[in-house]
Amino acid sequence: MNRDSEVFKDLESILIDEATLQQRIQELGQQIGQDYKGKLPVVIGILKGSSIFLADLVKAIPIHLTLDFMGISSYGGGTHSTGVVKITKDLEETIEGRHVIIAEDIIDTGLTLNYLLKTLKQRNPASLTICTLLNKQARRILEVEDVGYKGFEIDDHFVVGYGLDYMQKFRNLPCIGVLKPSVYQKF
Ligand code: 5GP
Repeated sequence: MNRDSEVFKDLESILIDEATLQQRIQELGQQIGQDYKGKLPVVIGILKGSSIFLADLVKAIPIHLTLDFMGISSYGGGTHSTGVVKITKDLEETIEGRHVIIAEDIIDTGLTLNYLLKTLKQRNPASLTICTLLNKQARRILEVEDVGYKGFEIDDHFVVGYGLDYMQKFRNLPCIGVLKPSVYQKF
């Protein structure tokens, strides 16, 4: 989509443009490829936010891998974490003995991933790491261990795009942006 689209027009600013995202994702993919050579990792996408990132990430990883998905929800549709994490869709394959890479869109308070890590470690994977596109370190309530790969550090903004939503919209933006304040009244 181009910048005249109605989706772009709701943005106050673009924080990370498409080219910068793609460049960094290529680097992450190369790095993961080197680190997991000969290991057949399973890359787990956390729905729905990480789906767009995951699609580009796995295309940048130059080794064999498998894919699985998990659905969890931590936000009630607004802009603040409730701390309540619910599994809405579980994995289809067992991860016992597998090298697991969780692809996450953003780590904010850390509540969601702490819950998820605890759950997945009980299933005895050979290893477990997180690859997050964005990290908001300033907002951390619970520190998250095992973050092997980080795309970008960002300040404390509520961001949308590239899989991240506001009221389920804006996931289809090809960049990461900040919304105009008027959008919060509109939707
Ligand atoms: P945490 O549990 O770390 O606070 O939150 C993780 C989840 O909250 C993310 O996977 C994402 O769905 C949502 N989230 C956190 N910060 C943002 C943000 O700035 N924008 C959007 N759209 N979602 C966010």
